[in-house]
Amino acid sequence: MNPLKQHRAWSRLALICLVVAGIAATATAQDAATLAKLAKEAHAKFKDDASGKNADYIPALAKVPSQLFGLTIVTVDGTVINVGDVNTGFSIQSCSKVFTMALVMQESGASAILDKVNVEPTGEAFNSIRAIEEGDGRADNPFVNPGAIAAVSLVQAKSAQERWEKILACYSRFAGEKLTVLDDIYTSEAATNFRNRGIAHVLFNSGHLYAEPLECTDVYTKQCSVGVTCKQLAVMGGTLANGGVNPVTQERCVDAKHVPKILAVMTMAGFYDGSGAWAWSAGLPAKTGVGGGIVAVVPGKMAIVGFSPPLDSFGNSVRAQKAIQYISENLGLSIFGPGK
Ligand code: GLN
Repeated sequence: MNPLKQHRAWSRLALICLVVAGIAATATAQDAATLAKLAKEAHAKFKDDASGKNADYIPALAKVPSQLFGLTIVTVDGTVINVGDVNTGFSIQSCSKVFTMALVMQESGASAILDKVNVEPTGEAFNSIRAIEEGDGRADNPFVNPGAIAAVSLVQAKSAQERWEKILACYSRFAGEKLTVLDDIYTSEAATNFRNRGIAHVLFNSGHLYAEPLECTDVYTKQCSVGVTCKQLAVMGGTLANGGVNPVTQERCVDAKHVPKILAVMTMAGFYDGSGAWAWSAGLPAKTGVGGGIVAVVPGKMAIVGFSPPLDSFGNSVRAQKAIQYISENLGLSIFGPGK
């Protein structure tokens, strides 16, 4: 090709690229506007819903103002949409279990979770001891308390300090910011977590806890007391939506091959004995915590986080559930199909 023709060809290609990029940018902007509108609608619709009740078996959680209600969406291209009380830090509680599971898989492979913890839903409460007794002695799945404490025990560490530091560093990578513990929550739960200490000893006794029981319970209690804002938790979920790469910092936090397995367990067991109804209504892999947070993942697209302390009888935030369901239904986001 002569140089003039070649120049024209390149110019045409550049023009096509610009047009395509322009269309993509417009589409993203429109999507962000739609998402912001829906998030605002969901917040307005459910903010006065006073059903449910703060967790009080951890005394400090009973004192968190019940009217708090925040919603954040983080898309895989890093767009952040915030509505309501998004700057209040709250304890991550059981939403943490997802990220310790990821750390164990990253360090020791997926089989460490499948073989040593198991991935079966229990249909029982998150702190059920009966569920361990009824199974083969393993902890059932990494999202109930026994499985979460077992996952902590599988983190490769020579000391409690190292175990804790690895977990906190992992969560901070997922959030793209340095996270810290909410001391009042940690002190309150550490003084009252006799049931979790019991669970750890039952597992250790049957050979299904892989480090010292009280050390694992304490590190687990600390991980549950990590403070997050809606945005920080949404970036953590957005990292899973984005195949394991943080959509804000672009850091890879977990191998892509582990992500579908993590999302599968979130779908089957993220809401404990409320998981069936959640799959039915929202159709999204998600994880709840008794601090009032819920992180839902729309694979390849976004994470939606809701935070509001009052919980239903399964320990899942009422307002956060309703808001995420509303957004999912309106956009047809269910992983089982849009249904329209
Ligand atoms: N730290 C809480 C506990 O162990 C976590 C429970 C939850 O969020 N479902 O009971």
